[in-house]
Amino acid sequence: MHKEHALIAIRTTALMQGCRDFDFTCTAGDFKDPEIKEAGFSGPVRVKVTAERAGSEIALLIETVAGCDFACDICLAPIHRELNGSYRLFFDCSDSGAQETPEADSDEYRILDRTAVEIDLTEDVRETLRLSVPMKVTCTGNPDCRLYTGTQEEQDEQASEGSRSSWKDGLEKLKKKYR
Ligand SMILES: [Zn+2]
Repeated sequence: MHKEHALIAIRTTALMQGCRDFDFTCTAGDFKDPEIKEAGFSGPVRVKVTAERAGSEIALLIETVAGCDFACDICLAPIHRELNGSYRLFFDCSDSGAQETPEADSDEYRILDRTAVEIDLTEDVRETLRLSVPMKVTCTGNPDCRLYTGTQEEQDEQASEGSRSSWKDGLEKLKKKYR
């Protein structure tokens, strides 16, 4: 593999009229991105790109499946999760590149150079991976972590029992009053 060669790219000649799927497999390390590593990505990354061309417009849907290692937000136990990401972008390959469209401001709408041989999607796949990382991660099926939620429930139970006994007290007082 050439160092100059894009990790994930689609040849523009492959983008004919209609719909086509492209599958890529790489590893998290291939991105050579400390941010990807820090996010916890490790091992294989599967990428599926669905390209649909209609006239001079190409719509791309990037979907990623990658294993990621986290620490539980509650108990800090290590968790391994398979994350699914998706990202949509559009390319305009008409010659009127300078034409202003309202979507032209959007990051997902790009002008494709007529002379371009391939579309490098490495950056976009990296972004898709980053976006697939959830804000909060808590483990499931970890007894230590359940213990924590159990304590919460117990506290709730005690609270409701407390209110119940005060209600009982009130009832007793009421009974005494009318005796
Ligand atoms: Zn946990």
